[in-house]
Amino acid sequence: MDADVLVVGGGLAGLVACAELTAAGRRVLLVEQEGAANLGGQAFWSFGGLFLVDTPEQRRWGIRDSRELAWQDWRGSAQWDRLDGEDRWAARWGEAFVDFAAGEERAWLLEQGVRLTPLVGWAERGDGRAGGHGNSVPRFHLPWGTGTGVSGPFAAKATAAAAAGRLGFRFRHRVDGLVVEGGRVVGVRGAVLAADDAPRGVATNRREVGEFALTAQAVVIASGGIGADHDLVRAMWPERLGTPPATMLTGVPAHVDGRMLAIAEASGAAVVNKDRMWHYTEGVANWDPIWAGHGIRILPGPSSMWFDALGRRLPAPGLPGHDTLGTLRLLRTDPALQPYDHSWFVASQRIVEKEFALSGSEQNPDLTDHDWPLLIRTRLGKGPTPPVAAFEQHGADWVVADDLAALVAGMNGIAPDAPLDGALIERQIRERDAELTNPYSKDAQVQAIHNGRRARSDRFTRVATPHRILDPANGPLVAVKLHVLTRKTLGGIQTDLDGRALGADGAPLPGLWAAGEAAGFGGGGAHGYNALEGTFLGGCLFTGRTVGRSLAAAL
Ligand SMILES: Cc1cc2nc3c(=O)[nH]c(=O)nc-3n(C[C@H](O)[C@H](O)[C@H](O)COP(=O)(O)OP(=O)(O)OC[C@H]3O[C@@H](n4cnc5c(N)ncnc54)[C@H](O)[C@@H]3O)c2cc1C
Repeated sequence: MDADVLVVGGGLAGLVACAELTAAGRRVLLVEQEGAANLGGQAFWSFGGLFLVDTPEQRRWGIRDSRELAWQDWRGSAQWDRLDGEDRWAARWGEAFVDFAAGEERAWLLEQGVRLTPLVGWAERGDGRAGGHGNSVPRFHLPWGTGTGVSGPFAAKATAAAAAGRLGFRFRHRVDGLVVEGGRVVGVRGAVLAADDAPRGVATNRREVGEFALTAQAVVIASGGIGADHDLVRAMWPERLGTPPATMLTGVPAHVDGRMLAIAEASGAAVVNKDRMWHYTEGVANWDPIWAGHGIRILPGPSSMWFDALGRRLPAPGLPGHDTLGTLRLLRTDPALQPYDHSWFVASQRIVEKEFALSGSEQNPDLTDHDWPLLIRTRLGKGPTPPVAAFEQHGADWVVADDLAALVAGMNGIAPDAPLDGALIERQIRERDAELTNPYSKDAQVQAIHNGRRARSDRFTRVATPHRILDPANGPLVAVKLHVLTRKTLGGIQTDLDGRALGADGAPLPGLWAAGEAAGFGGGGAHGYNALEGTFLGGCLFTGRTVGRSLAAAL
């Protein structure tokens, strides 16, 4: 035996499992197709947002949250409807995760070395139904370091365990198959890939320079999702979301290739809820890309107007920051929109300055580098944050103009296949602007803006004072051409509450365990159909910890 446990994947889920196993004295080999530079996987690049419930950070802003409210929100979002089969373990994992997020997660994270900022955002504000999708309150907690602040402490633990001889790294080892003997998974086999000194996030070569086989008492699959393989995303695209776009941006590095899911399935593991995924509608091409087709998600406040490719304002729930998949459905199921892959934000510069944030650790240097003065200067001072300003200046999807005619001309310049009618756009903006004369309104988006400003955290950091978009006093007009951006995989390897992978017959497949995105963040689909955000990193922490602890106890 080469080790007690083989962990496939050095992303957050794999690292957390390694930390638990090595702390319990188990010998671990971490098998990773990328080089040492990529330790931490997607989590390193992430915004770092964490779904936590009823915390001191929330209470400081006057936000009252509870486990019961969070569970109502989670259930309303998940909408599990396969409870006799694919959702059997998913729903139990969902509830266990809410308990974790409302219970020991925060204290445990602090113990591990994660530090929280005072900021609490309001992601996925919902579809307008009390029992439907969405967060009833702000819960998206931001750590110092963004994603690096979450993955960093666990990467450091792995490095320390390696130095102490409890963990071995097998970088550039790509697993191509599980070794199964007598119905039990006893190891992995695959190709050794040529060394590659590409910087973190940049796709590496796939040149094979050797073969390997490793054996252990147990194998943990923590290999992430499918987001970088657009063919796979299209193949899994569910009918309820209409047709997949012909072109999409890629929100994850190339290593998120989904290969391990098919490999696990070929060895008998049940891979369930393949049709559930989480892709964003507010993607913009990165003007300074790290990986091929690199897109960045705009994390919008509620005030930008959202138009489809034909220039028609989206109805609720197609409001910025409210209902990711509800909006995707609106855009992909309308036959009139079939030829087009884009939609538009139209905003004032004042909205951009207050409300636009960009997802990704590299897009938030103030938080990532723990730079308080930069944070105060750029988030609370005048002007957009420097990364947003750079996109306005260099981004291919951005149009800035002093008047509406010039703005529409610029929009038509970058989307000539779908020329917009300036009069139609103007009428809809004027109708919306007219709704701002009252402290109340019949316009669902204006109501959402007023509601957002009732949350102190939002009023302070995220929601612009309501104003007329067409009033030149609010700065130039800004339009952003938005694309679908692939990101997360909500289904995956079905696991029981210990993290043991299950076979097609529902019984544990001896020797195989799974964690993180590869396990659908627990049970093969703990999110159900929708996510509340901040639940992916949390899901990796929770499943990685669970697998590490139960395996350590089982061996
Ligand atoms: C830009 C961005 C922003 C995000 N923001 C947030 C956020 O704010 N909040 C949140 O909760 N989530 C966020 N996420 C999502 C979250 O980061 C991911 O879902 C999570 O990190 C996935 O971790 P993982 O360990 O399951 O998989 P990964 O990080 O994908 O790691 C899997 C590892 O397995 C390796 N691997 C795969 N196949 C093989 C193989 N065959 N052989 C050997 N190795 C293999 C890969 O190379 C990789 O290193 C964001 C993601 C991105 C990209």
